[in-house]
Amino acid sequence: TAERRPLIAGNWKMNGLRAAKSELRTVAAGLAGLSAETMICPPFTLIGAFAADVAGTQLMIGGQDCHPAESGAHTGDISAEMLRDAGAVAVILGHSERRIDHQEGDAIVKAKVKAAWRAGLLPVVCVGETLVERDAGEAAAVVTRQVRQSVPDGATAANLVVAYEPIWAIGTGRTPTTDDVAEVHGAIRHILGERFGAEANGIRILYGGSVKPDNAAALLATADVDGALVGGASLKAADFLAIARAV
Ligand code: PEP
Repeated sequence: TAERRPLIAGNWKMNGLRAAKSELRTVAAGLAGLSAETMICPPFTLIGAFAADVAGTQLMIGGQDCHPAESGAHTGDISAEMLRDAGAVAVILGHSERRIDHQEGDAIVKAKVKAAWRAGLLPVVCVGETLVERDAGEAAAVVTRQVRQSVPDGATAANLVVAYEPIWAIGTGRTPTTDDVAEVHGAIRHILGERFGAEANGIRILYGGSVKPDNAAALLATADVDGALVGGASLKAADFLAIARAV
């Protein structure tokens, strides 16, 4: 079986002012000796300062979105090159809040993944079903379709991370059973295998949606779960560290 180094990524969403640096420092200082890779994705405004601050530690900094183009007349947008220039090494793409708040479909997510690759960033591509789709028994099918349509040709173990985030589990305190998580992660591994062959065995698939210190160990021990994408609990250094230690 492939070596997949677990990744624990924190998505701060639209949270964090400059004073949050102290939280970041607490996280960075608490990582020594941990086996997982760790990353914090703060809002754009903090990326430069945070990247400078964690230089030399094992904490990585990522963005939460990017525009497909390298530069140009796109008021308010940020390119993958700009993220990279500010010190980010990765970028979350296709988060359900982007898909819903900004009407992002799979085609635009795919274009953004190509932009991330162009800039040398690691894309973390988010997929996940709604509650209606889950109740209709369509979770694996929906997620398979999203992976098929959001991930461009050319994905490798080194240039892609997928995050399974059931929309109904985000910020709700509800999580799927570990059996349900294993089923969807297995479906994602399967479609990745169809498209990318043996490379798929090395692609990390994160679980996201109400991961907390008290449920992290069980979720992270589930088949085909290679880490976590953490929203709310990543805002508190102690909680994020507890999740990273649960690997
Ligand atoms: C997320 O939106 O990426 C997420 C997982 O949020 P939470 O952990 O707060 O459910």
